[in-house]
Amino acid sequence: MIERIVVGKFAVNCFFVMCDETKEAVIIDPGAQANVIDRQVKKHEAKVKYIVLTHGHGDHIGAVEELKALYNVPVIASEDEDDMLQNPDFNESSRICDHAISFTADQYVRDEDELTFGNKTMKFIMTPGHTKGGMCIHIDDHLFTGDTLFNRSVGRTDLYGGSHQTLISSIAFKLLRLDDETKVYPGHGAMSTIGFEREHNPFM
Ligand SMILES: [Zn+2]
Repeated sequence: MIERIVVGKFAVNCFFVMCDETKEAVIIDPGAQANVIDRQVKKHEAKVKYIVLTHGHGDHIGAVEELKALYNVPVIASEDEDDMLQNPDFNESSRICDHAISFTADQYVRDEDELTFGNKTMKFIMTPGHTKGGMCIHIDDHLFTGDTLFNRSVGRTDLYGGSHQTLISSIAFKLLRLDDETKVYPGHGAMSTIGFEREHNPFM
């Protein structure tokens, strides 16, 4: 079960993903509005197991500390995103959020690492480019792409750690090899599929 919760002034797609059989769940990119996210958790009587970050930008991490305190669960991020999570200038929170954000993840993951919740497996695909430690999260035929890949677009690369060439390589070699039917859930905006992006994304 997947629910999109659009949060904050940057309209970040936060995703609540739950294993229907066990009600164990993960929260991907809690960017803001912890109370709104928690309402979904309560509505489904879910047991949150992990908070997972596609990357460390302020608009995607604003509710992490509040939800972590609420659920007492580990925060998962790429090991290459550590410096960004700790530095409010790198993660932009000193500029774009109402308070500077600095924390460390509880568990850092690498390319192709896996974690489970309920009967579901999350596989992490490192896709640097938008940030150094940007990653996508693959669960069954669902792919959560953060600010790496959008519907008909790709993430900006003019911020700390960004590289357009690296981003395009990440998408071309690691995401477009997935099945056409793979559903794409970006960090902002509308859903898509890998097949649609292969055909219609002007950056590819
Ligand atoms: Zn971002």
